[in-house]
Amino acid sequence: MDDLAKEPENAGRRLEPMPEDWTRALAVVAHPDDLEYGCAAAVAAWTDAGREVAYVLATRGEAGIDGIGPDQCGPLREREQRASAAAVGVSTVDFLDHRDGVIEYGTGLRRDIAAAIRRHRPELVITLNFRDTWGGTVWNTPDHVAVGRATLDAAGDAGNRWIFPELTAQGLEPWDGVRWVAVAGSDRPSHAVDAAPGLERAVASLLEHRAYIEGLTDQDPEEYARAFVTSAASAAAPRFDGRPAVAFELFPR
Ligand SMILES: [Zn+2]
Repeated sequence: MDDLAKEPENAGRRLEPMPEDWTRALAVVAHPDDLEYGCAAAVAAWTDAGREVAYVLATRGEAGIDGIGPDQCGPLREREQRASAAAVGVSTVDFLDHRDGVIEYGTGLRRDIAAAIRRHRPELVITLNFRDTWGGTVWNTPDHVAVGRATLDAAGDAGNRWIFPELTAQGLEPWDGVRWVAVAGSDRPSHAVDAAPGLERAVASLLEHRAYIEGLTDQDPEEYARAFVTSAASAAAPRFDGRPAVAFELFPR
């Protein structure tokens, strides 16, 4: 209802540059390819600048390709994800091993993400659109909604010693240093990163999901990846001085 009933906040407003006074980011998403559909150009720019970025995926995306069963698909998509992360300078990719397609929002998911935040100690956390729809018309998947919301919650959980005391018992000390959670793919973005410097690597990064793309479309995979990444970056340009951009909705903490 919320998405359909009113004009999104921030609509039409100029996008502010993303904060740059940080050194470590952690991106938490549901599936292999979630970061490559639009966000990877920003990651490339950050790793170019010497910042550390790590990825955490709730699933291995094993339910993502119709023609390949989960047992084969999980390891295949893990390999593709590691290669696509490497294309934008990311060498740490962790998997939480929730089941693809049926991730449940709840304390188990919050705890797993809080544990990851404590391990990586990021100042910036990235996640993907957690709202019911993409822009009011296209229904979002339950996995994205669950992981996005749980990530926003876990940014707080990670700093509280008493919410998941079992994490402290495992040696994961509280980390209250998350300063922002940035949501990619939001229909009410507030901030952006210049996509131009990282655009070619973002295309290469999406293209690493070759088996997934081949399962999805008959289009040539490189043409498909280039068209998607370019049009996503162009969509934000009118609100970012005409520059192609990766847009985020920023939640300061
Ligand atoms: Zn996804």
